[in-house]
Amino acid sequence: MSKIIGIDLGTTNSCVAVMDGDDPLVLPNDEGSRTTPSIVGFTEDDEPFVGQQAKRQAVVNPEQTISDVKRLMGQKYDSEHVRRHDEIYPYEIEENTNGDAWVKVNGQEYSPQEISGMILTKMRTVAEDYYGEEITEAVITAPAYFNDAQRNATKAAGKIAGLEVRRIINEPTAAALAYGFSRDEEATLAVFDLGGGTFDVSILGIQEGVFEVISTAGDNALGGGDFDRCILEHLMDVFEEETGIDVSGDNMALQRLKEAAEEAKCELSTMQETNINLPFLAVDDDGPQHLSVTLSRSQLNELVFDLVERLEGPCKTALDNAGMTAEDLDDVLLVGGMTRMPLVQEKVEEIFEMKPRKDLNPDEVVAMGAAIQSAILEGELREVILLDVTPMALGIRVEGDRFSPIIPKNTSIPTQERKVFTTTEDDQSIVTIAVLQGTSEKAAENELLGMFNLTGIPSAPAGQPRIEVAFDIDTDGIVHVSARDKKTDREQSVKVEGYSGLSDEELQRATKRNADRMDAVGAE
Ligand code: AMP
Repeated sequence: MSKIIGIDLGTTNSCVAVMDGDDPLVLPNDEGSRTTPSIVGFTEDDEPFVGQQAKRQAVVNPEQTISDVKRLMGQKYDSEHVRRHDEIYPYEIEENTNGDAWVKVNGQEYSPQEISGMILTKMRTVAEDYYGEEITEAVITAPAYFNDAQRNATKAAGKIAGLEVRRIINEPTAAALAYGFSRDEEATLAVFDLGGGTFDVSILGIQEGVFEVISTAGDNALGGGDFDRCILEHLMDVFEEETGIDVSGDNMALQRLKEAAEEAKCELSTMQETNINLPFLAVDDDGPQHLSVTLSRSQLNELVFDLVERLEGPCKTALDNAGMTAEDLDDVLLVGGMTRMPLVQEKVEEIFEMKPRKDLNPDEVVAMGAAIQSAILEGELREVILLDVTPMALGIRVEGDRFSPIIPKNTSIPTQERKVFTTTEDDQSIVTIAVLQGTSEKAAENELLGMFNLTGIPSAPAGQPRIEVAFDIDTDGIVHVSARDKKTDREQSVKVEGYSGLSDEELQRATKRNADRMDAVGAE
C-alpha cells in the first residue's frame, strides 16, 4: 500500500510529515530545513524553483517571485480581498475567463492552484527522497475558515502535484491531533496560530471523537513579516543616523536587511541580545559603509509592542463568538513560528489566563497532525476516531433571497437530512433549487454550489404542493441533493462534487505541465 503523507500547505512555509511507527516524523528538505518557504520563483525561461532559493531572491526579482499564493486560492478577481492583495504584492494578478484571480509571470498565466501544486510537488519530493519510492496520496491541511471553493482549490493543487488528496483537515484540528487529543478526550481548546503572514485563533471542541471548530477569528494582515518590517525600519534608521545614507531605494541592501531582521528576531527568542553585522551595506564618497548594531530583547519588545497588542482583539472575538470565556478552556495550543517569541507567549498567557502548551514545534504541529490523520485513514491508528464535519451550513435559496439551511454547520459526515418546501405562486409548475453553502442568512452572500429545476408540478394554489428536498453528503464530502414532488413522486437531483475553480481541461493542462517540470523542481 502506498504511503499517505501529511502536508501543511502554509501561507509562508510548508511542512511535510509521515508516520514513523506511532509517532509523526517531520521530514527535512534537501537543504536540511524542516519547513520550506511557500514561495515560487521563476527564471527568465519560466523554470520554477521553490523554497529557500526563491525566498532569497524575492527582493531582487519581485515580479517573478510568487509568495503567499494561498491567499488567492479559490478567490474571485473582482473582490476586495484580491484588490488588497494586488496592492501589496509586486507580482501581477489578473482575471481568468471564469472571473478567478490568477497570477501572471513572464507573460504566462498560472492559477493559484498550479502555483500551490508546485509547492506541493516540492513537499512530495521531500517524502519520496525519504522513502525512496513514489508517493501518490496525501492529507493536506487548510485553515478552518476556508470555504468549499478554497478547499476544492487545495484538492486541485494536490492533483496537479500528482497527489490524490485523501482528506483536507482543518489546521487547528491537526494541531489538536498532534498534541494527542483523541476520542477519549472531552476538551475545549484555543488554538493560537501566528505564522509568517497571518494570525488565526480557533476555539475547538472535542467530544466523542468529533473535533468541532466552534469559532474562528483572526487578522490576515498580521504575521511575522510585520515584526521583521519593524526591525528592518529600525535598522534603516540606525544606518541613516550613522552614515546619512538612506537605503530604502536599494533592493539589494533591503534584501540583506530583511534577512538580518528576521534572523535577529528569531535569535532574540532564546537570547537577550544579538549583534547584527552587515559589511558593505552601502557605498558613499567616503567608501563602503557597514552596519553593526546590537539589538536587545527589550528593544525588540518595544519595537513590536503595537503588533503584539493587536493579538488580543481576535482572541476575545473568538471566545465571544463561541459564547465562552477563558475559564471555559482546558488548554491553549501554540501554532506558527512566531509563537516562539517570548513576548507573544506572555501575551497569550495574559489573554487566556493560562500557560499555553508549547511542548511541540509550533511550525511543525500542523503537518504532524496531518500525518496522524493519514495513519487514521490507513487504519494504523485505531484509538483516534476523527469524524469529518461540514465546515459550513448547506441549504437552499428560498423566497426573498433568504438562505434556508438544511444541514447545519459542523454536522458529522456522512449525513442525510430532508426538509419540505412549497410553491409561492398559484399554478407554479417549476421550482428552482439553488444549493448553497455558507453562514449568511442572505442567499446571495453564500456560495452557490449547484442549481437544478424540478418540473411538472401539477396545478395547485400557492403553498399547497409539498416538495421534499433531501441532502445527502457521503464520506468524501460529495453532496447529493434531490427534490421530490410528494404528490407525483417526480424527482430531480444534482451531484455537487465541488468545483475546484479549474475546468477539467485546465486541471489536466496544469497537471501535465507540472509533471513535465517535476524533474526540474525535484532537482532543485
Ligand atoms: P510559519 O508561517 O508558522 O512557518 O511561521 C513563520 C514565521 O515564524 C516567520 O515570520 C518566522 O520568522 C517566525 N519564526 C520562526 N522561528 C522563530 C523564532 N524562533 N522566534 C521568532 N519568530 C520565529
